[in-house]
Formats: sequence, structure tokens, C-alpha cells
Amino acid sequence: MVRRLLIFGPPGAGKGTHAKRLAHDLGVPHIATGEMLRGAIASKTPLGAKAEAYIRRGELVPDELVVSLLRARIADESGWLLDGFPRTVPQAKALATMLDESDVKLDGMLSMDAPEELLLNRIAGRRTCDGCQAVWNEFYRPPAKTGVCDDCGGNLSHRPDDEEHAVRRRLAEYRTKTSPVLAFFAEKRVPIWTVISTNDVDDVYDHIKKSVGIS
Ligand code: AMP
Repeated sequence: MVRRLLIFGPPGAGKGTHAKRLAHDLGVPHIATGEMLRGAIASKTPLGAKAEAYIRRGELVPDELVVSLLRARIADESGWLLDGFPRTVPQAKALATMLDESDVKLDGMLSMDAPEELLLNRIAGRRTCDGCQAVWNEFYRPPAKTGVCDDCGGNLSHRPDDEEHAVRRRLAEYRTKTSPVLAFFAEKRVPIWTVISTNDVDDVYDHIKKSVGIS
């Protein structure tokens, strides 16, 4: 079974929703740099203080900060599903070097996408749990009780970087800095599975499971 995977795509493509489920089914940790950075901000660490303004503006956090965060997190793991990393070619090169040093390979990359209008709609309706960071959506996947997380009972909020001006910035960052990461791994002959996430969540997840070979 695959053990080292990336999930890749623009904001709103469904990475977080599917990554949590897939990591659980594969029995590997779901490692999301965005969640780790939000955790660092909430616990007021020095890293959180450095990252906060970038995130609020919808910009990428500098590579060196994210690479050292990720390096420390995966150091003792024999498998993982990385969500939101790498987001630039320098980050991709840093990951490739880490893997070479440990003499392990990436098993594949799940590349998710959807039309821009749908991405914007999804993000407008997105509500994130302050407690467990589960993601719900007012329009597409509402919790049973408005404003309350079905999983842990935590409060649901709209992330500041999910406001429209920040989202447009994030999409622009994705197009210019993140999308070249796909070509970087394609050149390295990493298997890439493309999933267009316009369908119902369960249909998309079935497609993902088939792609990675666990259906
Ligand atoms: P996400 O939760 O993946 O949407 O990430 C939220 C925000 O955290 C992004 O818009 C970036 O500002 C920052 N971030 C997360 N992962 C990275 C990364 N690999 N490189 C740079 N910035 C990141």
C-alpha cells in the first residue's frame, strides 16, 4: 500500500476534506502545514508570530520557515500524507533532498482541481473548527447544527484568509508559485493521479481510493 503521498491543488479543491479521510484509511499521519502554522499562531510561538501576517494577507510563508517545520515533523515518520506542502519549487527540492537522504521515495501525488468559480464558492462557505480543525461547508457539507462541529462540538469559524481578498491572493500565489511543483515531480517520474473535484464528496473520495489503489 502507498505510504508516502502528497495531496496537491488550489485552495478550495477539497485537499483537507479528502486528505484526513485518506490518511486514516492508509493508516498514515495527515500532515498539513497550514494546520501546523495556524496551531503555531494560536499557541503564540515565535514561528506563529513570524507566519501570521503572511497568512492573513493570503501570501505564502517563507520557504525556510515551512521547510524546517516540515523537516522536524516528518523526521521520525515512516509514512505520511502531506497536505499543503510543498507549495513552491524550492520546497519541492528540499523535500526531494530529505527523501534522498533517507533513501526513500514518494509513492505518488494526488493532484486535485476544480473550476475557479466553484473554488471561490466553496471557500466562501467554508467553516473550520477552532478545536479539531475539521472543515465544514455551509452550502456543500453543513454541520448538523449551524456553527458547531459535528466531530468535536467545537466552534466553527470563517478563517480570516478565507475572506475574498485573501483568497484571490492565494489563488494567484497558487498559479505562479505552486502549480510548477507538479511539473517538478512529473519530471522525477513520481506517479501523479489527477482528480477533478466537481462531484459529490463521496464520489470524489471513491475516485481517490481507486486512484491510489485502496478501493
Ligand atoms: P492551508 O491551510 O493549506 O490553506 O494554508 C493556509 C496558509 O498557510 C496558506 O495560505 C499559506 O499562507 C500558509 N502555508 C501553508 N502551507 C504552506 C507552505 N507549504 N508554504 C508556504 N506557506 C504555507
